Amino acid sequence: MADSTSVEIIKSGADSTLVVQLSRFHVLCTFPEDLIPPRVKDEIRSARGVRSLAGSVAWVDTLDSAFRVREVVESAGGKAKIYEAVVSGGEYRFECQRCGKCCSEAYILLLPREVVAISEYLGVSPGLFIDEFCEIASPHGGPSTVKLKTHGDGSCIFFEDHECRIQPVKPGECRIYPIIPHEGVIWWVHCPGSGMGRRYGFYEIRRLAGERYREVSNYSAAYGRLLSEGRDEGSILDILFKKIEKT
Ligand code: SF4
Ligand code: SF4
Repeated sequence: MADSTSVEIIKSGADSTLVVQLSRFHVLCTFPEDLIPPRVKDEIRSARGVRSLAGSVAWVDTLDSAFRVREVVESAGGKAKIYEAVVSGGEYRFECQRCGKCCSEAYILLLPREVVAISEYLGVSPGLFIDEFCEIASPHGGPSTVKLKTHGDGSCIFFEDHECRIQPVKPGECRIYPIIPHEGVIWWVHCPGSGMGRRYGFYEIRRLAGERYREVSNYSAAYGRLLSEGRDEGSILDILFKKIEKT
């Protein structure tokens, strides 16, 4: 049983079940040269409430500890993103402050339905849209998909004059942010809008995350079926993305 600062995820295999216990909070620390400088590592490790530092991820006990790690990282010139696992009874508030931070460091994966919606909005074919605005990505070694290109500074290709150019049809990932479902855990990102505005109930967050999770799972299943037919990545993406027509 997890304590109040932890969350359990259960992974079922063919002949075993693995229970993994994670801290409810972690901080993803990034530096321009990718590596966390040794001095900063020491400071993170010695900060109160830090359980461990694995690669660029600091697992911490409380939100206050996460804020402290973020302070250490940012004062050393790095970037820090705080993730909290959503649990029943937690307090979740959000109101977008339109700061553009999420669009400035965007890694946005698209599903076929989203490609149709955005290409229609832009008045181009899905194939042309993909060629011009997307690139191939294989997130976490999973099925390949397409992601939005970024400008040289890492900002989303559709982030212009501090606005989203495709706001009415923006992808699902952007729509449910700061909620991120990943590997059986629903993460809540502490961006400048978190803790402000209206309260999000646990079941509402779970519904939003669940809808996204199902869409992504359906895509993975379709990809897997085509892979098992012996097709290569290029032809699978052609089938799933470029040949899609209006739905
Ligand atoms: S979602 Fe958060 S990071 Fe993105 S613009 Fe709104 S407040 Fe800023
Ligand atoms: S699609 Fe729009 S909301 Fe999403 S990252 Fe790009 S600019 Fe931001």
